[in-house]
Amino acid sequence: MDNKGKLIVISGFSGAGKGTVVKGLVEKYGYSLSVSATTRQPRPGEVDGREYYFKSVADFKNLIDYNGFIEWAQYVDNYYGTPRKFVEDEIDAGRDVILEIEVQGAMNVKSQYPDAVLIFITTPDRNTLEARLRGRGSEDDATIAKRLKRAAEEAESIDSYEYIVVNDDINTCIDTVNSVILSRKCAKENNLSFIAALKDDFRR
Ligand code: 5GP
Repeated sequence: MDNKGKLIVISGFSGAGKGTVVKGLVEKYGYSLSVSATTRQPRPGEVDGREYYFKSVADFKNLIDYNGFIEWAQYVDNYYGTPRKFVEDEIDAGRDVILEIEVQGAMNVKSQYPDAVLIFITTPDRNTLEARLRGRGSEDDATIAKRLKRAAEEAESIDSYEYIVVNDDINTCIDTVNSVILSRKCAKENNLSFIAALKDDFRR
């Protein structure tokens, strides 16, 4: 197999449960997880450096200027970005890194890293999404309305992803996403130098 780690981009509607899916992938299958920076306020229970690096707008803009992000985007009034150094170090060390980011960021990553795997996690339908957003209880009605509107916009971009996984049962979803990643890693076009080396080996 080729030695560099892969970038795995996981997107999905806010409230589709992708955070839980990602946590499961890290805990069950040992993927490395990129912690993003954001200017939004922490939700109850969120810890700086664990869910996000919480930044002021000035600090965030400073990081943009210093090329500190692989990608960044604005989402519902806040900035979000993927810190460059951690991701580059991990893939150089051969570890697969999950980025849990929204659609603009996903497209941006794909243009820089063509072999990144783009996966979209969705609820079975819109009503389930709305119920999950309300059940979370951490956002007011106006924010929920904004997130649903944004979800409707994001639904239009689903075709830009390579794989779509429905999160109906969380454990099934985690295992399915892992299978998607494994199958991509085994794809011929991701193993050209390995195949060449193997052929050489057998020709000797
Ligand atoms: P939330 O505020 O619910 O944690 O995240 C809002 C949205 O921002 C989610 O769709 C999440 O995937 C996305 N997001 C989180 N971190 C990043 C990032 O570093 N870059 C981009 N482009 N989106 C991000």
